[in-house]
Amino acid sequence: MNADESAYPLPPERKRQLVEWDRQHLWHPFTQHALWNRVEPLLIVAAEGPYLIDADGKRYLDGHSSLWCNIHGHRRPEIDAAIRDQLERVAHTTQLGLASPPAIELARRLVELTPQNLTKVFFSDDGSTAVEVAVKLAYGYWHHRGEPQRNIFIALKEAYHGDTIGSVSLGGIDLFHRVYGPLLFETKFAPSPYCYRCPLKTSPETCGLACAEEVGRLLEAHGRQVAAVVVEPLVQAAGGMITAPPGHLARIRRLCDEHGVLLIADEVATGFGRTGRMLAVEHERVAPDLLCLSKGLTGGYLPLAATLATEAIYEAFLGPIDSGRTFYHGHTFTGNPLGCAAALASLDIFEKDRTLETLQPKIERLAEHLTRLARHPHVGDVRQWGFIAGIEIVRDKATGEPYPYGRQVGAQICANARPHGVIIRPLADTLVVFPPLIISIEMLDHMLETIERCIDEVVSGPAHAASDGLE
Ligand SMILES: *Cc1c(COP(=O)(O)O)cnc(C)c1O
Repeated sequence: MNADESAYPLPPERKRQLVEWDRQHLWHPFTQHALWNRVEPLLIVAAEGPYLIDADGKRYLDGHSSLWCNIHGHRRPEIDAAIRDQLERVAHTTQLGLASPPAIELARRLVELTPQNLTKVFFSDDGSTAVEVAVKLAYGYWHHRGEPQRNIFIALKEAYHGDTIGSVSLGGIDLFHRVYGPLLFETKFAPSPYCYRCPLKTSPETCGLACAEEVGRLLEAHGRQVAAVVVEPLVQAAGGMITAPPGHLARIRRLCDEHGVLLIADEVATGFGRTGRMLAVEHERVAPDLLCLSKGLTGGYLPLAATLATEAIYEAFLGPIDSGRTFYHGHTFTGNPLGCAAALASLDIFEKDRTLETLQPKIERLAEHLTRLARHPHVGDVRQWGFIAGIEIVRDKATGEPYPYGRQVGAQICANARPHGVIIRPLADTLVVFPPLIISIEMLDHMLETIERCIDEVVSGPAHAASDGLE
C-alpha cells in the first residue's frame, strides 16, 4: 500500500476525532477562533503536484502555494528524494562550531544566483528570522563602525516583514501591527506605492514617484540616525499584493546611496521566480546590502531562511575576540541539512525544467484573465507583477469604496471557491493569485474562471442584495 492509499479517505470516526481535537487544542495563525470553530475545518491529508487532497480524497488546486511557498508542486520526486537521501546521513547537526555539506553548497549556490555584491549567507528558520538577522546585522554594522546612533529604520506603510517583534517593528499594516506599538523599536514610515489608493492622492502617470521621494525626505530629516531602509521589492505582498510602479525600487536604492544608508530587500515572498525572474531586484538591477529569502527557498518543503550580506557588512564584524564584534545570533536549527538539501534540489529543478522560461506564457495568460476581470463591476483594481496578482473587490467601482470589513467579502469569495476545487486566501478584500509555478495553463484558467464565478456569487447575487439590506 502506498502512502496515498493510507492517507485517504480518512475513516469517519478518525476525522471526527481530529476535528474535535483541532477545536480543543489548536490555535491557528491569523485566525479568529470565534469564526473558525463554527465551520468544519478542511483536513488536508496529502498532496500531489499543484493539488491538495482532503480527508475524503477530494482534490483542490493549491491556489496560494501553501501560503506563498510551494514552487514546483507537492511530492516532487527530486525534492522528496533529496530529503530522504539526506535523512540517510543525518537529519540535523548544528552550525555552531561545526560545518555541514548541504549548508555549504547552498550558501555557494545562493551567492551565485543573487547580485554580485552579496557574498555571505547567514541561515535561519523562516522569513521573520531572516528579517531579524538583517535588522541586527544592519544595526551592528553601524555600531561597529562607530555610528551607534544609527538606530532608526525606514520602512513603507502597508509593509509586512514577519511576526516577531523586530520584524513587526518594520510592519506597516495597522490591522496586524497597531496593538504591539508600545513594544516596538522606532521606525519611520514612507507611503506605500499603492497607486490604486494613492496615499499622496496623485497618479503614477504624473507623480514622478512621489512616494519614493518621501523616503528621500525621511532620509534628509533623520539622515545620520538611519541604519537602513527596508522594502519588499516590487510587491508588498501581505499588504494586499500591492505592486510598486516601475522605477520605485531603483529610486529607493539611489536614495540610500545618496544618504549612505543600507538597503534591506525582503524577498521572502517575491523570491524564487514569483515575479518572473529569480529575484524581484533583478527587474531593476538593484543590488541590496542585505537580502532576505525564505518561503520558496526549499521549494516550499521545509522551513529554512537565508540573509545574504555584503563583504563590507561581514567585515564590520571581524576583529579580535575581545573586540565584541562577533555576531552573537543564531538559531538552533540554523542551516538544517534537510532544508538545505531540499533547497538544492529545488534550485536544480529551476535549471532542469527551465522553470522561469516556461513561466512566461503563464504570466501572459494571467494578464489576459486580469484584463477581463478588471471590467467586472465589483473589481476596483487588478495588479500583477509576474506570476503574482491581486484582485481588489470594492462595493462601488466608481469611488473605490470598499465593503465594510465585517462583511468579509474576500473571505466569502474564497470560501465559495472550495466546492469548485480551488483553495485561495484573500488579504482583506483583495483576492490573491499565487499558485505554484508549475501550474498548467488549463489549471490557471480554471482558477481564474472560478474566481470570477465566485465574485459573482458573493457580490452580484441575491445574497449580496439581502445582506446589503441589513447593513
Ligand atoms: C511571509 C513573509 C515574511 C515572514 O515569513 P515567515 O516565514 O512567516 O516568518 C516576511 N517578509 C515577507 C515579505 C513575507 O511575505
